[in-house]
Formats: sequence, C-alpha cells, structure tokens
Amino acid sequence: MLSTGLVIFKPFNQSTRITMPEQYDVIILGGGLAGLSLSIQLKRMNPQTSILVLERRESEAATAAHKVGESTVELGSHYLREVLDCKAYLEEHELPKHGLRFFFPSHTKDDIPTRVELGPRERLPQPSHQLDRGTLENHLTIKTHQLGTEYVLGATVKDVSLGDETHTVTYLKAGEEVKAKARWVADATGRGSFMKRKLAFQKPMEHHINAVWWRLKGVIDVDDWSDNPEWKSYLKPGLRLLSTVHFMDKGYWLWVIPLGSKNTSIGIVADPAVHPFDTFNKYEKALEWLKVNEPRGYKMLEPETKNLMDFKILKHYAHHTGRLYCAEERWGVTGEAGAFLDPLYSPGTDFIALNNSWLSDLIIRDLAGEDISGRAHVYEQSHLKLVDNWIPVYQNKYLLMGQTQIMVMKIFWDWATYWGVPTLLFTNNGFTNLPVVKALFVSANGLGRKFGALGNRMQQTFLDWSKYETTIFEHRYIDPYDLQYMRDFQLGLDVQYEPDALLEKIAENMKKLEQVACAMYRLISHHVKGTPRNMKVDPYTFDLNATLPAGEIELESEENMDESINKDVELMWFHPQNALVNG
Ligand SMILES: Cc1cc2nc3c(=O)[nH]c(=O)nc-3n(C[C@H](O)[C@H](O)[C@H](O)COP(=O)(O)OP(=O)(O)OC[C@H]3O[C@@H](n4cnc5c(N)ncnc54)[C@H](O)[C@@H]3O)c2cc1C
Repeated sequence: MLSTGLVIFKPFNQSTRITMPEQYDVIILGGGLAGLSLSIQLKRMNPQTSILVLERRESEAATAAHKVGESTVELGSHYLREVLDCKAYLEEHELPKHGLRFFFPSHTKDDIPTRVELGPRERLPQPSHQLDRGTLENHLTIKTHQLGTEYVLGATVKDVSLGDETHTVTYLKAGEEVKAKARWVADATGRGSFMKRKLAFQKPMEHHINAVWWRLKGVIDVDDWSDNPEWKSYLKPGLRLLSTVHFMDKGYWLWVIPLGSKNTSIGIVADPAVHPFDTFNKYEKALEWLKVNEPRGYKMLEPETKNLMDFKILKHYAHHTGRLYCAEERWGVTGEAGAFLDPLYSPGTDFIALNNSWLSDLIIRDLAGEDISGRAHVYEQSHLKLVDNWIPVYQNKYLLMGQTQIMVMKIFWDWATYWGVPTLLFTNNGFTNLPVVKALFVSANGLGRKFGALGNRMQQTFLDWSKYETTIFEHRYIDPYDLQYMRDFQLGLDVQYEPDALLEKIAENMKKLEQVACAMYRLISHHVKGTPRNMKVDPYTFDLNATLPAGEIELESEENMDESINKDVELMWFHPQNALVNG
C-alpha cells in the first residue's frame, strides 16, 4: 500500500475545545470532500476566517474502501491542484490519470480488441488524477487543521437554529450534546442533505439510474485482458491502466479505476429500464451480471473475489435541489447535499469546485461587510441553470450506450462543450466575476442560455437518431486528440484572459460549437434522411423528426462551412461517408 508519509490526524477531544471561539465565522456540517475543500478554500481566501468543521465519522478515513468520487476531470483537477494548492500532494500520493476511456459493444465482447475503443493515446496537456478518496480526505483534514480550522471527528449534527445575527448548531459528540455558534452555516453533509431536509427544498430529478461498486486489493490492468499485440501497441504500456475505463452497452457502463493505494475500484452503473437493480445489487449477483454482460470482465474479476474489500449499492443516485445560497439567512449547501446528476464523465468534483467557489466568494464578501444579496441570487440562479442544462446530457442516454456511432459523437460533443465553456470559465475565475456571470446567464440572449439551448438540441438529436442506428462497429481506435478543435479546447484551458477577453473567447468557442453541431447534424441527417451534405442548418432549430419538402432545403455557401471542423467531424463518422440508412 502507498504510504502517505503523513502524520495521522488526531481528532480533537473535548479539552482542546477550550480554545474554541464563542462564535465562528462559519460552521461546516460534514467533513467529506466538499466540506474539507470549502474550509481550505475559505482559509486560502482569508486566513483570519474562523471555521469549525463537524464530521460524523469517528476516526480517519479508510484507504481505498471509503467513498466513490475517485476519477477527476479537468475542472475538478484544476480546483484541487491550483485553488486548494494540492498539486504537490496529488503528484506524490495520488495517480496521474490518462483520461476517460470507452469500450463499446462488438459481436464478441469478451475479445476486447474487437471493441471500438475511444480514449487518448498520448498524455493530455491538462493534468487530472485518480484519487484514493480515503487518502485524499485524510490529507485534506490535516491540511485544513494546519491552516487553523477546527475539525471535530465523531460529531453528528442534530440541529441548526437560524438566528438574525448568529446561528446555533447542535451536535452530538461522545454522547454529549454540544452547541456551537456561527454567522454562516454551510451544509456539506452529502446525501444526508441536512438543510434540504430541514427547510424542505427537495426538488425531483427525472433520472433514475442505479449503481453498485466494490474495491479489490491489488492492481488490475485492463491491458492484461488481451494478448493481441496490435491492440496492445495502440498506446504505451501502463496508460490504459491509468485511464478511467468504461465498458459500455445498452443501458449500462462498467468502470475500472486504479487507486494510488495500489487497489482497484470497479462499478456497475445501469438504467433499470434495461438492467433491473435486483439483477446486480449483491456481490454474487453482480458477478453473474458480469458473466452475461461483460464476460471478459467476469473472467478477469471473478478470481479476485479473495481480494474483495467492500461492496456498496446506491439506488436512484441523482437528486436535485431547490436552493443553494441564501444571503438573507447566511447559509449555503455544497457537494452532494445540493444536486448530483451522474458519474458518467466523473463530474462530481467539478460540481464541488463550482459550488465551493460560489459559496466561499459569498461568505468572504459578507464577512468583509459587503451586501451580497444580489450576487447570491445571481450565483444561485446560474448554478441551478447549469445543473438544468446538464440534465439532458444523461437523461434517457443510457438507452444509447450500445449504439457506438451515436455514443462516439455524443462523447466528443459532451467533452467539447465541457472544455470549451464551463472549464475555461472556471480556470479563468469567470464564475465569480459578476459582470461575466450576468453577461452569460442573466441576460435573455446571454451565451449561457444559448449554450443550454444548443446542448439540448444536440441531446435531442442523439435520441431522435437512435431509432435509425443499428450497425455494430468493430476493431477501431479513436483518439479525441486527433481532432483539431478538441486539441484547441484542451490547450486553451491554460490561457488566462481579462473578463472582456474571456467573454470574447467564450463567444468564439460557442461559434465553434455551433459549427460542430451543424457539421454533425448534416452528416446524421444525410445518413438517415438523404438530405444534401451541404444543407443549410440552424443549430438551434434543426430537428431530425421534421419533414422538409425537397424544394425547401437551402444549401450552405462554401465559405460558411468550416473545412477543419468538417474534417474533424468526419473522423468520428464510422459509416461509409455517403451511405444512407435505406440506400
Ligand atoms: C456511483 C457514483 C460514482 C461516482 N464517481 C465519481 C467520480 O468518479 N468522480 C467524481 O468526481 N465524483 C464521483 N461521484 C460523486 C462523488 O461521490 C461526490 O461528488 C462526492 O463524494 C460528494 O462529496 P461530499 O463531500 O458532498 O459528500 P460526502 O463525501 O458524502 O461527505 C459528506 C460527509 O458528511 C458527513 N455527514 C453526514 N451527515 C452528517 C451529520 N448529520 N453530521 C456530521 N457529519 C455528517 C458524512 O460522514 C460525510 O463524511 C460519484 C457518485 C456516485 C453516486
């Protein structure tokens, strides 16, 4: 096992509480990833902020078999590395990640080289990490303690009484009821969702997917799952191992994630419309499920049963929230205590990063005496809008996971939108720049709204397309970095812009995304409906279900078609270029 080289954090006992102030600036309920990182962010913004973190767990977090949230992507990695200053820790104690990697179904799924593989060959310029969540939380606990935060283990929050000037938090510690006071309360209790329950701001989320996961002692390298030399040569040894590997077919994906503690995380995530939960919600059943759906995975993982560390289940993991930041009553929610959508692209840490950045900005401004009411409203609406914009990325999409051609385009689309807009905004501190946020999310014609509308159009198109798409593709490797616009978006994340220039860059990226959407739509529509390859399309209204009389189809002028983007989109098109569904 990896040694962290860190001193084990000793929880405070009652006697150390003598030094506690009468009133804190902030009490954070729950010391998981969201609560710990919020406390560090607040301290880094203003070291004078007095913070109490109350965590129910009695002792340090277990290595490996602790929580899910092990794979990070660019936005969340930037947050951990730069905003929380954990770069050195991550590079020394956690694993570098080699991107997300997808294997789609073939006729013989147990022969992996037959499956279409999507993932980077070379190291991506933007770093990301595979996290052992236990090791990470222990590190963050020590870090926040060193910054002067009071962190109490074995403290279960029982009540929050909101006052005009001061809130009172009641918690149980070693059987005793303890009260602490603060100006702000931040709820980071995860699925416990303390404030959501207390103030009843639950909101339905129509996305009902289930998950199970387990950790195995030891390293499992997917590269060992085939001896095929050509397949092995697609990328350097060790790089498949470092990817977050997704094996996919209709209604599900299976993850394999390596952990820095030299253990492996495995998970099944599935739509009950195709894979009822009771077919895999126990370890033995999960193995039987693998035997049927991922036979190669079964052969490689079943013998590892002797190394089983845990087995966890979670039904209907997606949930929404009606509130996030309340300036008047000085509380906020962060992490899974707010909204959680779907782990497909590993965005959990991203949402924590956004959430904490908005909440800490509000708290620090309020503590400095600023009236934050207008700002809090804008942040809350923008955040809720962002979650809403993201729902169609996942909703009903598990049904498409067996359709390789659709999924390849969808994954590239989803990545491009993620890199080109929210990640760029985050690496440029755009989400806490009020004029930038207002320009994007508040104005009726703001780019943020167009971004949502464009995304919805594409997600609907993927669904509409699914009734036509039956081909099973095999023996292909596709690399996101072979696409020029994808490379540009990734490399662009490092560039720092002034607010006006940032808005211009986002507008430029949106223009590119519109062109990508048009190029994708033209190919899809040509394939399924025989429309001309140079048909004029509006990215905000195109509709695969609409019937266009031939005479009404306008053609696009050549100068309006971006050749480079057309070439990129053709790279992800597996059908013969001119083949029609019925022709
Ligand atoms: C199947 C699945 C896979 C996922 N995979 C990924 C992934 O690969 N990458 C990624 O980034 N995200 C992933 N996520 C999301 C990720 O797990 C969450 O974003 C993250 O764990 C949320 O952290 P949190 O701090 O909000 O909640 P938690 O980590 O649950 O922390 C909440 C803390 O509050 C404490 N607590 C609760 N109630 C109380 C109370 N009353 N008093 C005191 N303390 C309390 C708990 O003990 C806990 O420590 C995944 C989620 C799911 C469901």
